Amino acid sequence: MQVPLLDLKAQYATIKDDVLKQINEVLDTQRCIGGPKVEELEEKIAAACNCKYAVGVSSGTDALINSLMSLGIGAGDEVITTPFTFFATAGSIVRVGATPVFVDIDPVTYNLDPAQIEAAITERTKAIMPVHLYGQMADMNPIMQIAGQASLAVIEDACQAISSTYKGKKAGEMGTCGCFSFFPSKNLGGIGDGGMIVTNDEELYHQVFIMRNHGSEPKYYHKYIGGNFRLDPIQAAALLVKLPLLDKWSQGRRNNAAYYNEKFAGSVVQTPVISDDCVSIYNQYVIRVPKRDELFKHLQANNIGCDIYYPVPLHLQECFAYMNLGVGTFPVAEQAAKEVIALPVYPELTDEMQDYVAETILDFLS
Ligand SMILES: *Cc1c(COP(=O)(O)O)cnc(C)c1O
Repeated sequence: MQVPLLDLKAQYATIKDDVLKQINEVLDTQRCIGGPKVEELEEKIAAACNCKYAVGVSSGTDALINSLMSLGIGAGDEVITTPFTFFATAGSIVRVGATPVFVDIDPVTYNLDPAQIEAAITERTKAIMPVHLYGQMADMNPIMQIAGQASLAVIEDACQAISSTYKGKKAGEMGTCGCFSFFPSKNLGGIGDGGMIVTNDEELYHQVFIMRNHGSEPKYYHKYIGGNFRLDPIQAAALLVKLPLLDKWSQGRRNNAAYYNEKFAGSVVQTPVISDDCVSIYNQYVIRVPKRDELFKHLQANNIGCDIYYPVPLHLQECFAYMNLGVGTFPVAEQAAKEVIALPVYPELTDEMQDYVAETILDFLS
């Protein structure tokens, strides 16, 4: 049996006609930049996230960069974040000229440990950038409280967590702003790159909006230096078809996660732990196992797709060697990087496929 990590063809087969119709509408109007599809998607995502405003951008990375620029964060500033995330989280901070200050993670949820944030705050700190890893939101109440006391912005890297909740609040709703990615492997994936920023702050919305288009307002008058961070209307067209299906797909992932959890119960496999405060969208179903690297090879040899998110914590990346944060600086993140492995959890998986994945793993580990 073949079980890929993700099968976008299976999803596309169910929506193909609608996607092509939407794309054709864009092509027929030849409004190839911005336009009504982008605006409609912005309105619908804002509403889905309980936010007043949304701005479509070119990627999740550009959502983070635009947010940082729009909050005036740059050279000399520090942003507190997690070392256990996709590279773009810290990469964006460095690209605007600021310094990422890493704080270790919670060993159970893999998200930023709020208890360690305060010690990392200095007079240069401007923001906290929590990441909602694998689709589960970070522990936002203490993060918002610490940020409030120290007058820091909170930029939620919600790229893996669109429509995920924490105490009933949506990803992107609690922070100063929230950033989403429409990279095809995210729960709401485009047919190329795309992203979105949501916020309830009118002033920030305005700034993000003009920064998306080289900081110009009015056209050809530049008070700020922004960039070309625009969302492609072809992407918006495809995403408008997918957005109404997002909750159903995320529920499918939760059902699949529950199915695996049952299969792995009582074994050495550590299954994901979702806090009582959270509803995860399971962008990834990540287990922890001994002999992880051997298991990875074994799964590949048995035609089971899997991946490691992430094998190297950011403080140990070669490009950040100048920070002099050696092995042992963030032991919880470092340990997780050695033991985690993501399994297929996409909604179109069948019980037979999941049985095969679970049995192959349990056989190997016994
Ligand atoms: C995917 C992702 C990003 C970047 O999104 P792109 O659309 O690929 O630029 C940033 N942060 C996290 C946590 C992500 O998972």
